[in-house]
Amino acid sequence: MNVLVLGAGQLARMMALAVKPLNINIRAFDVGSDTVVDPLSTDIVFGGLTQGIEFADFITAEFEHIDHQTLALCQASGKLRPSSQAIKVGGDRRLEKDLLIKCGVANAQHQIIATKADFDQALNNLSMPLILKSALAGYDGKGQWRLKDKAQAEDIWLDIKAFFDGGVQGLQHAVVAEQMVPFDREVSLVGARDSQGNTLVYPLTQNHHTNGVLSVSIAIEIDEALQAQAKQVFDSIAKELNYIGILAIEFFQIGEQLLVNEIAPRVHNSGHWTQQGADTCQFENHLRAVCDLPLGSTELIRPSAMINILGEDEVPNEILSVASTTLHWYGKSKRPGRKMGHINVSGNDEKQLAERLTLLADMLPEAEFDELKPYVASYKKQLS
Ligand code: AMP
Repeated sequence: MNVLVLGAGQLARMMALAVKPLNINIRAFDVGSDTVVDPLSTDIVFGGLTQGIEFADFITAEFEHIDHQTLALCQASGKLRPSSQAIKVGGDRRLEKDLLIKCGVANAQHQIIATKADFDQALNNLSMPLILKSALAGYDGKGQWRLKDKAQAEDIWLDIKAFFDGGVQGLQHAVVAEQMVPFDREVSLVGARDSQGNTLVYPLTQNHHTNGVLSVSIAIEIDEALQAQAKQVFDSIAKELNYIGILAIEFFQIGEQLLVNEIAPRVHNSGHWTQQGADTCQFENHLRAVCDLPLGSTELIRPSAMINILGEDEVPNEILSVASTTLHWYGKSKRPGRKMGHINVSGNDEKQLAERLTLLADMLPEAEFDELKPYVASYKKQLS
């Protein structure tokens, strides 16, 4: 089976690594160079998208900010999974909010802003503080503004206006203003849906972000009610999109309630722990769904966690001496803040996992993993 992945980053690479044993051949379309590459070596295999589409039995994506013409070509081939509509929803916060409302899914109070009048109205209708997020091409905290009080409003509006003038792919820009949610923690649900509508989800993952970027994920002990609430949201969104593949949903947890923050129509960073913590990893399950193979079990084998390596191309080798620890590099060149690799670690129970995380936090340089130690300490406390 041949699969073309739109995007040639680490997610395509990890898909290729995961499904080689199933005889699934992955090629990746690098949107930057307009070529089709081997996702491991990055060697060019075809000159352009048309040949990539011809080569593929199925087409999928590793990111959602894909230009609409590329999506239309892939959709027209009848091979694209999930659909271009599902991918577009993940890449435009306006469509995402419409979807959440349509599915009756709880999310933060918000307003869409395209003009100064909308901006002024949002200041009146929503309570401070606000977070304003670019509707298009925003990810990992980029294209975001935080408005604590009205005194900052004029400056922030000028900034947003300058951002609008930049434009993206000729599409009309906008921002979504959201009330800041006083969440207890951030969790996410990664799950798979096949073409028959069967769904399987992994256990909820507790996530910590540093400067708006995911830094640590822990597959948490299952709180059945919370898991059921998240699964219900997953099922309604996935059904509405007639979704095929892995879909990730990020939530804010307030008490026992989950509010959806955003959805990602693809394998997700908060699901990397499944490479060693689950029966079937998210990368394999995505391709199983896309290629019409039966979904694999999403059961947790052992409590597991993932630590992102951001902006560094080295970590101390001694981390590999910590039991049940694996290291995954993406083969990318170093750039500040860039996702370069991740560390997975497991324990027989959560206490052992917390001990191993503490060992890793002690070994990793504090300057580069600045919030790791306090976060692991708070996780340990949460267990006791
Ligand atoms: P996003 O790009 O929407 O995932 O936002 C990045 C991070 O900013 C999230 O993971 C949260 O930590 C924080 N954030 C985003 N939206 C809100 C909100 N409405 N209330 C509180 N924190 C938020």
